[in-house]
Parts: sequence; C-alpha cells; structure tokens
Amino acid sequence: MSTTLITNLSEAFTADAELRVVKDAAILIDGDKIAWIGPATEAPRAGKTIDAGHRAALPGWVDSHSHLVFAGDRSAEFVARMAGQDYAAGGIAVTTAATRAASDYDLTRLVMGRAAEALAGGTTYLETKTGYGLGVEEEARHARIASTVVDKVTFLGAHLVPAGMDAQEYTDLVCGEMLERVAPYVQFADVFCERGAFNEAQSRQVLTAARDAGLGLRVHGNQLGPGPGVQLAVEFGAASVDHVNYLDEADVTALAGSWKDWDAARRTGVPGTVATCLPACDLSTRQPLAPGRELLDAGVQIALASNCNPGTSYTSSMAFCVATAVLQMHLSIEEAIVAATYGGALALGVQEAVGSLEVGKRADIQLLNAPSVAHLAYRPGMNLTGPVFRAGVLAAGRL
Ligand SMILES: [Zn+2]
Repeated sequence: MSTTLITNLSEAFTADAELRVVKDAAILIDGDKIAWIGPATEAPRAGKTIDAGHRAALPGWVDSHSHLVFAGDRSAEFVARMAGQDYAAGGIAVTTAATRAASDYDLTRLVMGRAAEALAGGTTYLETKTGYGLGVEEEARHARIASTVVDKVTFLGAHLVPAGMDAQEYTDLVCGEMLERVAPYVQFADVFCERGAFNEAQSRQVLTAARDAGLGLRVHGNQLGPGPGVQLAVEFGAASVDHVNYLDEADVTALAGSWKDWDAARRTGVPGTVATCLPACDLSTRQPLAPGRELLDAGVQIALASNCNPGTSYTSSMAFCVATAVLQMHLSIEEAIVAATYGGALALGVQEAVGSLEVGKRADIQLLNAPSVAHLAYRPGMNLTGPVFRAGVLAAGRL
C-alpha cells in the first residue's frame, strides 16, 4: 500500500470553502494526493503512519507573486529608503546590470537557493517572474531558467523602460520579438502599470499582445498612487492585479463585479480578478497597506503573496505576510491563511489542484511547530514551520 497516514495532528485547518478546523485530526496521503481527512479516531488504515507530535497542519503556501531571477543586492537602496528617500521604480536598473553579468549556472543556482528557502518556509507552490532582463536575449534566458525551477512563470518584460530607450519603442519590442522568444517558457504575462513605468496605452498594448499569444494575464497596479491598473486588469479578465494599495470606490466595485460576471468568466476562462496584497512589500516601502479588509468585505477574492524581490521585499516568508495581514490589515487568521493558500491558487489558475486540504488535491501540507494555526499571528516573527510535504513527499524540515 502506498498510503501514508499523518496522525496525532492537534488540528488541521482545511482552507477550503467550509473553512473546517478538524481537531485531533489525521490526513491520509495516497501517492501524491490527499485521500482522506478527518478525526484521527476515524482514520482508515494505511501502509505507513507518521506521528505529527501534536502539531497543527495547514495547506502549503501558494506564493503567487515573486521575482526570484536576479543577482546582486540592493541593501544600500533599502538603507537610503529607511533614511527617508522615496521609493521609485528606477532601482530595477541596478538589478538588471548585476543579473546580466551572472552566468546561467550562477543564476540557476541563485533561483534554486531562493526556491529552497521558500519551501523551507512552507511554500509548496511558487510563481516567479522575469523582468530584470529588459532585453530579448536576457528575458528569454531568465524565463528559461525560471521554468526549470518554479511551478509557474510570468513574463514581465514590461517591468521598466531600459535607460536610453524610447518607451514606445521598448513596448513594441516587448509585444513583438521578446514575447515570441519568451512565450514557450511562461504561462502568464504581466505589466508594471505605474507612473515611471508603463502608462495606460502601453499597458493595454502589452496585455493585448499577451492575450493574443494565449497567455494568462496579470497587472502590477495601483502601488504608488491611483491609476488605471485595476480597471485594465478587470477589463482584460486578468487572473490578478497585484499591489492594490491606492484604490477608489470604482476600483473595488470593478474587482467585486469581476467575480459575478459569468459571461466574462466563460469568455476568458478566468473566474474573476484576484486582488493580490503584498504586505511585506508595503512595509519595506512604507506604503499604506493594501486595504485587504475592505476588499474582503466588498466581496473581492484576495491573495497574499511575498513579492520576494531584491528592491522592495526581500523575503519569501509567507508566514510573515500572514501575520502582518492579521495584525495590520485586520484579517482573521483563517482569512489570511486562505488568502495565502487558496487565494494564491486562484490567482495562478490552479485552484482545482492545490491550495487547500481537500480529498483529491495534491498532498501539499505544512505542519507547524505549534498546537494551532493561530500561533502564526500570535507568535509573529517566530519560525514555526515544521515538516513540509509536497506532492505527498517530505520536502523540507524534519519529522
Ligand atoms: Zn512584483
């Protein structure tokens, strides 16, 4: 029998639609899937049994927004920002130069190291973006390297207009030769729709070209000020719009409406546009936190993601994001965990396969060195991640 029973769980939080907390639980894994979940006293027999030592269990994190393909470091910029300098989109150029200088071997090793860090922190499904290449060859190289390491790759050639290049000329390049070269390695395309990056017309051009190439869409929008990012994302049926710090009422209404627009859902194959909040980035840039509470109250699906990147959020700790969302955004612990698991899966279009503890889903399970999931916010900053199972296999941590 290739079944494994994880038993003696103090509780299991399912993060499914019913938000079940099963006390004194057990989970049966069959191959790479969850086969059963319920009270340990009712557990079926299994080929092998693992004693969880009265730990709590929850789904592995689904981190739907990161930028892991880079070399170098921007701690000097961070220090200057903490001393009062404003964040502007231009710092990306520093990373672009360092990354260009790194060999395939070194860059692959760096991405693998960061993915391993994320896994050790409980992340079992990971998206990452290109966007530090800003040229045809480099973007294609970053997409190829990323595709060998992470689960989903997003093309973000439209991250910044490289120095010395005309914005329209660069947008045309992104939508033409660059997109064509990168497309075999990626599932999504993204555009940084922000003052100092790409304006509405250019963002529209990128989204149209990516849609025509058959890619899923997402938008970096409304991070540094109000803007057209959210409206564009909804109009194009994007899977997510990320950052969402500066929203007006029409933005929130449009996001909520995207989850009720069945015609659009049928046409695009996307159930609605997820608003992805990036609390670690908000703290590191001293921006007002994205209004996660208000979005949830308005009926918007939200995700929490790390935005791990060298400029504005150099952490892949989803537990830190969850604690911040509870303590600062006023989400309940259950809401924050759902946003960091099922919400991320929705943003990546893999909600049928991962993102909750449900029978038939991939056995992506993290155990906490704590008796309840509330400890994630109750003991902020503590490393509570215990053993992490990915596709039914112990992938990080020790039993
Ligand atoms: Zn980002």
